[in-house]
Order: sequence, then structure tokens, then C-alpha cells
Amino acid sequence: MFFGELADRYGRVARDLRVSLTDRCNLRCSYCMPADGLQWLPTEDTLTDDEVVRLLGVAVTRLGVTRIRFTGGEPLMRKGLERIVAVAAALAGPNGRPELALTTNGLGLDRRADGLRRAGLDRVNISLDSLDPARYARLSRRDRLPDVLAGIEAAERAGLLPVKINAVVMRDVNEGDIVPLTEFCLRHGYQLRFIEQMPLGPSGEWSRDDMVTATEILAALAGAFDLAPAVEPRGAAPAELWRIEARGDRPAGSVGVIASVTHPFCGACDRTRLTADGQIRNCLFAREESDLRAILRGGGSDDDLAEAWSVAQWGKSRAHGIDEAGFVQPARTMSAIGG
Ligand code: SAM
Ligand code: SF4
Repeated sequence: MFFGELADRYGRVARDLRVSLTDRCNLRCSYCMPADGLQWLPTEDTLTDDEVVRLLGVAVTRLGVTRIRFTGGEPLMRKGLERIVAVAAALAGPNGRPELALTTNGLGLDRRADGLRRAGLDRVNISLDSLDPARYARLSRRDRLPDVLAGIEAAERAGLLPVKINAVVMRDVNEGDIVPLTEFCLRHGYQLRFIEQMPLGPSGEWSRDDMVTATEILAALAGAFDLAPAVEPRGAAPAELWRIEARGDRPAGSVGVIASVTHPFCGACDRTRLTADGQIRNCLFAREESDLRAILRGGGSDDDLAEAWSVAQWGKSRAHGIDEAGFVQPARTMSAIGG
């Protein structure tokens, strides 16, 4: 029997699995997808629920995965999501039951949060880049802000805690949202993370000189709040946390900044990724993928799957190299890789 860890040549061990359940989405965020013209994966190429569940079992029981995050595309567009979550919640690895989280744009979560909680989901990250309906619509190319806000409230009511909010900041688009989003999250007790925009959207549209850096985000925050560095070191967690003191009737809290480009956390990265079509990517920026779907559909055993996954992870690069000469953006956009 093949049991092991998802180790690589640089001494890192992956325990955090990101599973993309679909490449499709009901928004078109400009940093992630083109307005139109993106080819969807053919349905027959997408893993079935049973295939996904089998790979989750291999990851947890044989390869030491302790955290699973369902993502996409928009994972709520996957009909079998509740069932997949329920099966994952029943898995027991050497380290016990995996922690289960979902990254979602929040559309439709108001109707599904309770069911997902009952199925065994622990937490959610909801993407919200603006509280201004017009800016939200411009950024996501869909006028859906009220649905997202309803989804956030439902997640909180369902006990999918702590509710985390992800916001990507784009120059001349939503820099003005940094302070209102922080105020909103502090008041509701949501954990906000600002993310530097990475070159994973439509090809040719990202520019290093034009991206809003973590330093700029922090400067905007420091102009409005009393900020102090949080004490815990960030470890494998990508967000650098800052404490914000209470002011007036607004409670104290914290805010995170994920400096994926200007202060990469590759040295502590503990992630492995499975795409909706059954490919292992050992890094968001990997240029190569390993085909587990072919092994699944070719009658391979769990041993074969575990071994192929280990080999794939072993080849992980030291760092993503966005800032290095010769960097080439991956062919798939973030929506197709799974963020
Ligand atoms: N549709 C879900 C959502 O939006 O939360 C899940 C998939 S989405 C690809 C996952 C996360 O990736 C979101 O928080 C999104 O903001 C982030 N993301 C997408 N494109 C990005 C980019 N180019 N740079 C940084 N973050 C990005
Ligand atoms: Fe869809 Fe999420 Fe990408 Fe926005 S960030 S287009 S919601 S997959």
C-alpha cells in the first residue's frame, strides 16, 4: 500500500488541498476572467462527484492532507457540492477528519449555507471587492451585490465561522473601497483579507507596475485606522495580520494583507491543487500538470493515484518567480485553476 506525504525537493509538505469543482462562474471578475470568449471544460472532461470523492479519500487517508478547500470557478454552481462535502466530512486520515472550507463569490449562498453546514462544511471565504453597487457591477461585470451580501449574512447565521472576506484591489477601480470594506468587516466581525492582484486573469492584462501593492494597501489603512502588527508570525498562512484598535462604537479587530507578489510566501507554501478536470497542479503558477483523471479512468488503483500525486508534488518549483526575468503566466486563468 502506498502511504506517504506530499513532500517536495525543498522540504515543504503539502497538507492543504484546493479542489476546483468547476471552471464555470456566474460572475466575470475582470482580474480573473475575460468578459466573454473563455472556453469551458467539456462536461465529459470534468471529474464526476464519485471521482472527486475518490481523490479526496486518497489525499486524506494516504497522503496526509488535513485541510480541503472547495473552489472554482464558482463552487456553488456544482450541483453535487453538498454531497461531496458530506463525504469529505466523513473521511478520517491519520490526523483525523479534514477541515473543510469553501471559497465562493456568495451568489446563492443564502439558500445553501444551512445545508452546507449540516453536510459538514466548517468555514467560508466570500469574495467581496466593493460595497458600492456600481463599482461591484463594474468589477464583476454583473449587478449582484445584494445577493453577495445576503450570502454573507446567511453564512454567519449558519455558523460557518469565522466568515472571511477576500478582496482584490485594482488601481483606479476599487482602491476607494479599502477603508469602507474594512469598516464593514470590523463592525460585523468578519475577517477581511486584501489580496494583491496576481497575473492569473486574462492574458496580457496584468502589469507589475500598475498593481496595487500591499504597501499601498497598508498606507490606505494606516491613514484611517490605528494599525499595529499582529503578534503571531504568519507561518504557512499567506496573510500578514494587522490589529486595528477600537474607535467610538466600532469594535477592535484585525485585517490581513496577502502580498503574493511583493512578499511571496512560497517558502512556507503547504498547498496542492486539483483542477476540475482531474489535473494536479503543485503551484498556482505551475506550467505543468499531472493527469490523475487518466489514471482514474484507466482503472488505476488508489496506490497508483497516491504515487502519481506524490511524484507531481515532488516537482514543485522553489518559488513562483513572478518578479523574475522569463516569468510566463500560466495558460489557464485563475477561474480554471481554482483560486
Ligand atoms: N468564485 C469563487 C470566488 O470568487 O471566491 C472562488 C474562485 S476565485 C478564483 C478564488 C479567489 O481568487 C477569489 O477570492 C478571487 O478574488 C481570487 N482571485 C481571482 N483572480 C485573482 C487574481 N488575478 N489575483 C489575485 N486573486 C485572484
Ligand atoms: Fe468567478 Fe471567483 Fe473568478 Fe470572480 S474571482 S470570476 S467569482 S471565479
